[in-house]
Amino acid sequence: MPTWEERDLAHIWHPATQMKDHESHPPVIVDHAQGVWLYDAKGKAYLDIVSSWWANLLGHCNAEINAAVKEQLDKLEHVIFAGFSHEPAIRLVEALLAVVPKGLTRFHFNDNGSSSVEAALKMSFQYHLQSGHAEKKRFMCLGEGYHGETIGALSVGSMDLYAKMYQPMMMDNIHIPAPDCYRCPCGKSRGQCSCECIRFAEREFEEHAAETAALIVEPILQGAAGMRIYPAEYLRRLRELCNKHRVLLICDEIATGFGRTGKMFASEHAGISPDILCISKGLTGGYLPMSIAVTTEEIYRTFYADYGTGRAFVHSHTYAGNPLACAAALAVQHILKENRILETAAENARWLTRELQQAFAGHQNLGEMRHIGLVHALEFVDDPASKRPFDAARRIGYKIYRQGLANGIVLRPIGDTIYFNPPLNIKREELAAAIERTMAAVSAVLPR
Ligand code: PMP
Repeated sequence: MPTWEERDLAHIWHPATQMKDHESHPPVIVDHAQGVWLYDAKGKAYLDIVSSWWANLLGHCNAEINAAVKEQLDKLEHVIFAGFSHEPAIRLVEALLAVVPKGLTRFHFNDNGSSSVEAALKMSFQYHLQSGHAEKKRFMCLGEGYHGETIGALSVGSMDLYAKMYQPMMMDNIHIPAPDCYRCPCGKSRGQCSCECIRFAEREFEEHAAETAALIVEPILQGAAGMRIYPAEYLRRLRELCNKHRVLLICDEIATGFGRTGKMFASEHAGISPDILCISKGLTGGYLPMSIAVTTEEIYRTFYADYGTGRAFVHSHTYAGNPLACAAALAVQHILKENRILETAAENARWLTRELQQAFAGHQNLGEMRHIGLVHALEFVDDPASKRPFDAARRIGYKIYRQGLANGIVLRPIGDTIYFNPPLNIKREELAAAIERTMAAVSAVLPR
């Protein structure tokens, strides 16, 4: 009888994976999960410190979310969302209205992160078209940005790892060199600058704003780039540039939304509101795929017209507004509000920063530790003095990941950067266990 691992590898093509790597290490077959812990079929526990791709916001198999989904399951599992609606979606929108940045009042449901980015791009283009600006049809984005992997989303992304190969298939977008506070292109250091790098954006706006529909950014925290964190002031200045040049600002808060950066939304750090906000992942607590592109009354009104005028937003995804996902999302909003989750997470984040700093102080290969909210990243380099990275062929990050799995922690790396992005309700003793297991994994690969 073949094992579950053998049966998996016989037919399943896993995402973003070189499948040949599984010849030596088959995928972990997860049997069940609770809180921050995943359990394999043999009962081994793995601490899911990356929230299963940053989605799991309040722990696995959270009793309240489970109950909400189960209750909804016996009432209505799915319904076409054009021409029909339902209580969970209506209640959810009313709950979200109270927490999204000011001025955002119209909710367009989609069914995963990338699909809400696609919706936001099309919405921006059509808004300008229907406002008499057909010339505004290009998009700006930040270097090293990531917005998903469908073709539109990929082409406003700037990470070679995901995008380079598909260049011939892509839209011709304007990529603005992004801030990089660890390796600053203007020779400054983190926290010691006046956002000199905004000049790269200013230059692109001067040259291209007239033909640009929207700028899309991951506000403050560029996740897939290696948890790169940039100053709130930079985002404020981008908002000003967008206002000045009539370019819409799309904030992709698919990863940063719902408290990940210590605020409900990362754009709050800069005190700005986008014209379109994309949310997903933590929206349903990471339970079910759902996303929303949230926009303003002004944009919405541009589409509002008599039938037959061709002004409607003809964009749909089958599972948009799925009632089970809405029920999960409603429970998430309830938990966030009633249990003061962000306040406790903030205290734990301060504690985590101190403990991690102590644990890795003086490590000969630690380039930078950066953090915002509970997100903490450690970038390891060959030579911290010159910030020279390791030769990619050494696969340092991957080796730490493998060692982490052996130690019972999921440290899925980004290059040679490993990071914590745990559920917001992780307990302090679980964070302590995560630090200990991470240190052991790092020491095995990069002994002091
Ligand atoms: N935008 C950001 C900032 C993301 O982090 C992700 C997913 N990691 C996406 C978009 C794409 O979401 P999905 O994988 O659900 O399509």
